[in-house]
Amino acid sequence: MLKQRPYLIEFLTAAGLVLAPFVLPWLGFAPNTVNRILVWGLFGLGFDILFGFTGLLSFGQSAFYGTGGFVAAYLLTRAGFPYVALALVIGMIAAAATGYLIGLIALRRTGIYFAMITVAIAEVFFFVEFNPLSDFTGGENGLPGVPTPSFNLGFTTLHFTTGWSLYQFLALCYFIGVVIALRIVRSPVGAVFSAIRDNPLRATAVGHNIHGYKLTAFVIAAAYAGFAGGLLGVLQAFMPPDAFTFDTSGQLVMQTAIGGRGTLFGPLVGAAVWLSLQDFLQAALGLGAAWKLVLGVVFVLLVCFLRRGIIGGLADLYGLLTGQRGVREPDESEPEVVAVASTPHAAIAAAAPTPVRPRPAGSPSGPILQAKGLTKRYGGLLANSDIDFTVNHGELRGIIGPNGAGKSTFFKMLTCEVHPTSGTILFEGRDITGMNVTDVCQLGLTKSYQVNQLFAGLTVRENLVIAALSGLRGKFRLDLFRSIDSIPGLSERVQQTLELVNLTSRPDTPVSELAYGEKRRLEIGLALATSPSLLLLDEPLAGMSPRERVETVKLLKSISQGRTMIIIDHDMDALFELAERVTVLQEGRVLVEGTPEEIKNNSTVQEAYLGGVHGVLAA
Ligand code: ADP
Repeated sequence: MLKQRPYLIEFLTAAGLVLAPFVLPWLGFAPNTVNRILVWGLFGLGFDILFGFTGLLSFGQSAFYGTGGFVAAYLLTRAGFPYVALALVIGMIAAAATGYLIGLIALRRTGIYFAMITVAIAEVFFFVEFNPLSDFTGGENGLPGVPTPSFNLGFTTLHFTTGWSLYQFLALCYFIGVVIALRIVRSPVGAVFSAIRDNPLRATAVGHNIHGYKLTAFVIAAAYAGFAGGLLGVLQAFMPPDAFTFDTSGQLVMQTAIGGRGTLFGPLVGAAVWLSLQDFLQAALGLGAAWKLVLGVVFVLLVCFLRRGIIGGLADLYGLLTGQRGVREPDESEPEVVAVASTPHAAIAAAAPTPVRPRPAGSPSGPILQAKGLTKRYGGLLANSDIDFTVNHGELRGIIGPNGAGKSTFFKMLTCEVHPTSGTILFEGRDITGMNVTDVCQLGLTKSYQVNQLFAGLTVRENLVIAALSGLRGKFRLDLFRSIDSIPGLSERVQQTLELVNLTSRPDTPVSELAYGEKRRLEIGLALATSPSLLLLDEPLAGMSPRERVETVKLLKSISQGRTMIIIDHDMDALFELAERVTVLQEGRVLVEGTPEEIKNNSTVQEAYLGGVHGVLAA
């Protein structure tokens, strides 16, 4: 997420655009080159929201660039529509509508399959433009005669024709594009975009409808592409058929990677590098078509040595010089440091915060969760078999059992990550069997994961904001232009959660820089920030040193006040200290259930544990 210094970036952009015609000619930039850079930059603003912010790599943006471009050009040439700006907006709307329909199909898949679908879509659009629609698009001749804009102000008429005159119109369009893009990435929707990029699984689990948000990013990118496509026709006085070619999509991806993705200005900088290299190598050095060879080498070097592109590299350099460290890219290969004591014992003890929601007298009693006959079969294996399980409001239940007993599968069924083969789950009296994890989280049931599922490229506070947003805004809302800071109750909830998980001293630390114990607490914090009425914790003590375990048990005790929680853990001593009742699972079934004392003294449990699996439990 971009830092929220009000209007600084907008101001610098405006200043840069005003100064460009005075400075760039001295650097050898022709006005036509600058105008082309602006069109690519505008095209890339939407693409960066899709790729850089939401993590969806599309190779099909030429489809929307061409759609918007040809709709606008057709209106202005063949249909005799006189208003250039309005034609551009209509082209943009046509591209956005096309983007919506294509997104519905393409977003059914993720990763490489999504990218491959977008490649295919670009090819289909290229074919359609040249063949069935060639009467409208001019086929390989394109559409000549696209007019430039002029605005009648009553007392005078403004004409934007070519060169630096047209630049003024393009610069205004780019500026408006930047202002809108900044609003979007600073909005709650923009925060969810980043969450999807970093960890779609967790974004879903904390209650966001990620399909809806991905489609939103896709439509935004298509709209920007459509508007930029229209500007291409205006810039060249001709709508070229190559707007639809796959090369256009590829060039956009490469320019964004060169300039720096997730920066909004990366595509503009990338386009400046690309186009000036092209001019220099082709014209000045006379390399002809071989210029792409040099470009290829430059691209490989840049991607190898500046993973975050030119702007990312400059930001890192600035951070180094000023002693601030930028937010790092999530690094999947980075191993987690296990069992590093992170917080002084005294700090935890002193932190013991007051609970957010103490249970007032008269708060609901009776069962909050009832599972009946819950069974999960994986092929021939019964992971859970006919489990009956009830937890009351305000209870702290522990679940123990040897590895492979079916504990995690049981949690996954309760949170609707996996669906039971048979049986029902009632949450607060409502049948949630077969629902999805997002809806269940929205109802107030969520879990913290056994293996951390954090938003690794973001800071601690940004992580908690994303989780808290789902409770405050629901699973999907298009508040694209709303500032995150204006959401009532958000900062309070984030602050309360920071206190609860004892991370008040680290709110602005990137997740990648946290110690293991801190990450574990943030993992619990993410679940807590959704304000669940039933919180499940899957092995919260996993991977911790003995000292960290003691501290975390204290933390869990303080969190549990006024809440209903179910905790799975291998650490029996910790669980017996925490839980009011304990359920023992073995081979997918409930072996026994009772108070910690009853469990300790139960001969079946003793036999089960001392009779062979004790070592496993202690591991
Ligand atoms: P626990 O959490 O108690 O260690 P799990 O619920 O992870 O146990 O696993 C219970 C059993 O179900 C194990 O035998 C495991 O191999 C199997 N299992 C869990 N998930 C899957 C899956 N997705 N596909 C097939 N088998 C699975």
